[in-house]
Amino acid sequence: MVVFAGSGGMKAAKRSRATAALARPAPETPSETGGRADLSASPAGLDSHCADPYRLYFQSAPDAMLLLDARTQAVLDANQAALALYGYERDELLGKTGRELSGGPEAAAPEPGVVSAPISPRLHRRKDGEVFPVEVGFASLAAAGRDIALATVRDVSGRMEADQALRESEQRYRIVADYNYDLEMWHAPDGALLYISPSCERITGHPAAAFYGRPDFLEEITVPGYKAVWDELREALARDERQFAADFQILHADGLDRWISLHCQKVYGLGGADLGLRSSSRDITERKHLEMEFQHLAFHDPLTGLPNRKLCLDRIAQALERSKRRENYHYAVIFLDLDRFKVVNDSLGHYVGDQLLVSVSRKIKAQVRTLDTVARYGGDEFVVLLEEIASAADAIDIARRIKNEIKEPLSLCGYNIHISASLGIVLSPAIYDRPEDLLRNANIAMHRAKDQGRDKLKVFNTGLLEEAINIMRVETDLRRALERDEFVIHFQPIIALGDKRLTGFEALLRWRHPQLGMVQPDDFIHVAEETGLIIPIGLWVIEQSCRIMADWQARHADAAGLTVNVNLSAKQLSQTDLVERVDAILRAEGLAPEALKLEITESVMMDNPELAVNRLKRLKALGVKLSMDDFGTGYSSLGYLQKFPVDTLKVDRSFIMRLDVESESSQIIKAVIALAHSMGMDVVAEGIEEPHQDNLLVELKCECGQGFLYSRPVEAATIEAILDGRLVLDAQPNETH
Ligand code: C2E
Ligand code: MG
Ligand code: MG
Repeated sequence: MVVFAGSGGMKAAKRSRATAALARPAPETPSETGGRADLSASPAGLDSHCADPYRLYFQSAPDAMLLLDARTQAVLDANQAALALYGYERDELLGKTGRELSGGPEAAAPEPGVVSAPISPRLHRRKDGEVFPVEVGFASLAAAGRDIALATVRDVSGRMEADQALRESEQRYRIVADYNYDLEMWHAPDGALLYISPSCERITGHPAAAFYGRPDFLEEITVPGYKAVWDELREALARDERQFAADFQILHADGLDRWISLHCQKVYGLGGADLGLRSSSRDITERKHLEMEFQHLAFHDPLTGLPNRKLCLDRIAQALERSKRRENYHYAVIFLDLDRFKVVNDSLGHYVGDQLLVSVSRKIKAQVRTLDTVARYGGDEFVVLLEEIASAADAIDIARRIKNEIKEPLSLCGYNIHISASLGIVLSPAIYDRPEDLLRNANIAMHRAKDQGRDKLKVFNTGLLEEAINIMRVETDLRRALERDEFVIHFQPIIALGDKRLTGFEALLRWRHPQLGMVQPDDFIHVAEETGLIIPIGLWVIEQSCRIMADWQARHADAAGLTVNVNLSAKQLSQTDLVERVDAILRAEGLAPEALKLEITESVMMDNPELAVNRLKRLKALGVKLSMDDFGTGYSSLGYLQKFPVDTLKVDRSFIMRLDVESESSQIIKAVIALAHSMGMDVVAEGIEEPHQDNLLVELKCECGQGFLYSRPVEAATIEAILDGRLVLDAQPNETH
């Protein structure tokens, strides 16, 4: 290590005036004076009268100073500061060489008279061995024929530490800035870019150089729709606001948009000096996409990807607003519910059910324009909002197309699926305040369509609303009817057509309404079914019928072989504990199971054939008899009949009525009777009103009949009178209402 060298940078220079003034006759060299020149009296052999002021300066200088023999580098003299710095006694220090003080190699002697700039820090060693950094300045002089070097040694350890700390801190901040994941920028107050972090390349696709050339480059690559952000920033700064934040999109060099979240801050130095604007831009593209995905999820159905109920209501609300503002704006809302979707779900499984819903959603979407909304409202319910339609006829047309499209058979997961839908439509200009009200009416219309059979379309009108309100009223009243004991059972005799013998009765429910009088089942059974009230009501009917029948059998010998027929609705059949409940009732009332015959309509059985077969078999196992009601009104194939363990087939009244006019009808009944017999069932003809119907049915070997010709449904007391023999069958009065 070159210690006291003037370093490579030290060139021959003119002698300065100051050093020239120091030129004195050459003193003895230390070697000449036994290696130790007495410089305390006359340093370096300088004239004492001249030396004193210099000596004084030399001795009291705050920096350590050494006089060295330029050739040998031996210390000729050292001031107080030098002694203190190196920790040597004067005697010890004098004669030591620069090399000994530094531990480094001998330095080349500087040219005489040359003053070097303090050379960069070197390491020196104190007497105790401690190493410390110094800065050394040289002045070479020729005095008394000797080349002497005056070395000014400054301990820079304190400064070095501070420098080091500053450098480290700077480095740390630079690392923080350079390695920052966000794009860090610092603009000077005049707008010049002072710093940009390397992350600019990742975030924008452009290198830092692109920004240094154009300080507003980030603004330049901002997506046009968001450029206003920068005007906002300038305005905020003009208002002296110190912070600003905004999210916007930029165009990345790869051609794709990125979301950026920008945070700017004015920076100030000590004393409040304006240091410009520091900004941090974060790439929030992923977060934004996630947010958008969440947003989508919150408003869409995950299965079909269609808008969900929430978004649907929102879109309808907007349509309502528009229709209030614009006179010529027409819209329509379709409420669509799949028919018998539950059957698909239960029999083919939920996966197939889900696929069916997806297919249906596609079919609906294919029939509407992009400006229309198709939403999944609930399980198998869809809502279509048609906007900007020319006329009501257009809306009905679209609804019809949707309905027909859904009816087209589908091949899903290896199954051939036939499904249909019931649709209710609300047409503008009906004014609603709330989208829920509009949808309620569309729903009412849809239910009406369902009531009229499947695969139907119904346009809402106020009459339907009145009906719906009426249904609600019935529901409220029905809930109280059981508690208030308002139900009664009427019995309609069923007779053997051959000898007109009584074979049993059908129990038919009536409701003695406090205000409306006697209400017929057709007016309330469907409400009871929809609301589930049919379960307790139905059980009451079975219980009452069994009790009365058991009572008759106990008191009238003629009642011994009779049966009581009780109607069972779809909801009742799907009741899981139905079989147990029936069994319990029979036991409690003491009625033989074969005296009870349950009537189930064809369509109820066909709705869920698997479940029906299973439950009917269990009922049969109890000993209870089964009858298929209203045969001929549903769609069951005759082949299917075999599957059901049914004892009796009840041919619907509509066939019997036609026996008057159509000879074809008699052929059909003949075939049905023959078929029933071939399957071991007997046949009951419903609704016989005329003697010729009776005659014909006798001819056709129909076992039993039921109808006004023999008896209307009558009160239990009337049946008692018949059983008593007090009344003859064909002579009882009309049903009391
Ligand atoms: P249903 O089971 O087919 O009952 C036969 C219906 O035909 C009865 O109507 C009966 O009064 C009527 N009827 C019988 N003979 C004639 C006739 O010669 N001419 C005409 N025009 N009608 C005749 P009702 O009592 O009004 O019952 C209607 C329907 O209500 C029943 O049809 C049945 O489906 C249902 N129902 C009645 N009671 C109950 C019940 O307790 N539970 C359930 N779930 N449904 C019931
Ligand atoms: Mg019946
Ligand atoms: Mg019937």
